[in-house]
Amino acid sequence: MIINMMYGASDEQIAHVIAVVEHAGYQPHTIRGTERTIVAAVGSGGNRIALEALQAAPGVEEVVAITHPFKLVSRQVKSEPTVVNVRGVPIGGEEFVVIAGPCSVESREQLLAAARAVKSAGARLLRGGAYKPRTSPYDFQGLGEEALRLLAEARDETGLPIVTEVMSTEDVARISEYADLLQVGARNMQNFALLRALARVDRPILLKRGPSATVKEWLLAAEYLLAGGNPNVILCERGIRTFETDTRNTLDLAAIALAKELSHLPVIADPSHGTGRRSLIPALSSAALAVGADGLMIEVHPCPERALSDGPQSLDPEGFRKLMRNLAMPSRTMKPVSA
Ligand code: PEP
Ligand code: MN
Repeated sequence: MIINMMYGASDEQIAHVIAVVEHAGYQPHTIRGTERTIVAAVGSGGNRIALEALQAAPGVEEVVAITHPFKLVSRQVKSEPTVVNVRGVPIGGEEFVVIAGPCSVESREQLLAAARAVKSAGARLLRGGAYKPRTSPYDFQGLGEEALRLLAEARDETGLPIVTEVMSTEDVARISEYADLLQVGARNMQNFALLRALARVDRPILLKRGPSATVKEWLLAAEYLLAGGNPNVILCERGIRTFETDTRNTLDLAAIALAKELSHLPVIADPSHGTGRRSLIPALSSAALAVGADGLMIEVHPCPERALSDGPQSLDPEGFRKLMRNLAMPSRTMKPVSA
C-alpha cells in the first residue's frame, strides 16, 4: 500500500504514519519528493485494515494499493525519475550517458588505450570485465584482481568512473573497494543471494536483464536491491533470446520503453550484447536513445580482432568516435512540423 501524505504534511504526521505501518507488520519506505512525501508499506501478511484506516489520519491525502508485484521500483511509489550518481556522473537525468570500454580487461596497454580512446570520444564511464561469465570453462575467464588494479589506474589517469561485473557474493567486498558501479550480469539477474549482498553495499548497481527474463522479473530483481536498502539501481537491457539466430540476442527496445513507464529507475541499453554484431551497434544505439533510454553501454577494443572476448561485437576507437558523433548530431532529421 502507498500512503500519500498531503502537501505540507508535518514531520510528526509522517512519523505517526511510519509507526502505524511498522505496528501493522509492514516495512515502511519513505520517499520524500519535491512536492510531497509518500510512505510505501511493503511486505505481506500484515494487518491491511490498519493501513487502510490511515486514510483518516492527520496529514494523509489517500491510501492506495500498489497494483504491481514490484513496489519500491514502481512509478506508482515514485513518479519522479531517479537519478543515480556514479562518482559524480548522474545517470537518469538530462544527459544521455555513454559507458564504454573493452569486454574484458586483458592487459595494461589494452585497457589504457581503450580508456583514452573512449574518454576522448565523449564516454562518461569506463567499463571492463575483471571476472568474466563465459559460456565455456575453456574460454578466457578474466584477470581478476589484477584487472581491478588496472581499472583503478585507468580511472586515475582519465577521471572516468569504472564499472565492472561482480559474479559471486564472495567477490562483492573486494570489487566494491575498486569499482564505482557494480554490474550484475545477465546470467546472474536472479542470483538472489548476490542481489541480497549487493543490497547492502554502498555502491550503485547496474542490473542487466536476464536473456529470458520478463520485464516483471527484471523489475522484481531490482526490487530485491531497493527492498534490501540500496536505492541506487540502473537497469540495463542487453538483449533477450528469441528464435532469431543471425543476431546474438534481440535487443528489446519495447522493454526499454516499458521499464521506463513502469519504473522510476534509469534504464540504459547494451547494443553490443544486444546484437553481437559491430555493424548494427550505431543503429541500435540511436534507436535506444529514441525510445527513451538514459544511456548506453558499448564494448570498445583498441584492436577488436585480437580481443580475448566479444571481438565481433566490439567497436574500434574510430568506430566508437563515429557512433558518438552520430548520436550527438544525427545525419537525418525531420523538417520542423508546423502546429
Ligand atoms: C558483459 O557486459 O561483458 C557481459 C558479460 O554482459 P551480459 O551479462 O549482458 O552477457
Ligand atoms: Mn562482453
